[in-house]
Amino acid sequence: MKYIEPHGHMVSRTTDDYQKIALAGCEALCEPAFWAGYDRSSPQGFYDYYRQLTEYEPQRAAKFGIEHYAWLCINPKEAEDAGFAREVMQIIPEFLDKPNVLGIGEIGLNKNSKNELNIFEEHVELAQKHDLPVLIHTPHLEDKLKGTRLILDSLKNSKIEPSRVVIDHVEEHTIEAVLDAGYWAGMTLYPQSKCSAARAVDMIEIYGKEQVWMNSACDWGISDPLAVMKCALEMKQRKYFEDCIKQVIYDNPKSFLVKWSNFK
Ligand SMILES: [Zn+2]
Repeated sequence: MKYIEPHGHMVSRTTDDYQKIALAGCEALCEPAFWAGYDRSSPQGFYDYYRQLTEYEPQRAAKFGIEHYAWLCINPKEAEDAGFAREVMQIIPEFLDKPNVLGIGEIGLNKNSKNELNIFEEHVELAQKHDLPVLIHTPHLEDKLKGTRLILDSLKNSKIEPSRVVIDHVEEHTIEAVLDAGYWAGMTLYPQSKCSAARAVDMIEIYGKEQVWMNSACDWGISDPLAVMKCALEMKQRKYFEDCIKQVIYDNPKSFLVKWSNFK
């Protein structure tokens, strides 16, 4: 069955992983800019990273028939140094016209600090200025609920159209507030932390399958590039109809991305 991976950090993965997801049915993959496992020492490091996301990864993906798209920003973890973050943000507009760039992301919060929140808000302004959608990272574990609330309050003040915003890494205690406010909710499927396939399907059963998508993140940590299709299998084992599974793993991300970005 064909699917879209709406959130995968392929710069951390081998080419074998592109082959595996292509075999599993992946037609398109969206790669948000994020922390690389280490702090970059200069804005130039981000310049090179944005080139990697907009020039090299699309070529690597194309070898397996996968369309590669990117979201650009400075991630919340490296945004704690606000002066440094603003220098990096000055580079971003130069890349916004690249054909595979979808919008601004994954911005958000890491430790819920004031500096992170300021840079988050400046990214949302940048997205509004360029009429782009936004992809938002919510913090881990004990910081998640507070961080999600801070993000929701901030977005409300920004007046950005909720239907052009995806709030990612939702869990059982945050998904309802996200959907109720009109935002899209992303469920990140991880083998250990965040959300399992069974928990994701439970959430779909409770909160419905509108304005939700699932992703594997597949970053430099313990993660699984095939997580979306393993969740599709979980739905199949629970006797979901095929068109219902397809809605979550293909139609939903496509409808959001086609509406708000240059996704084809
Ligand atoms: Zn990510």
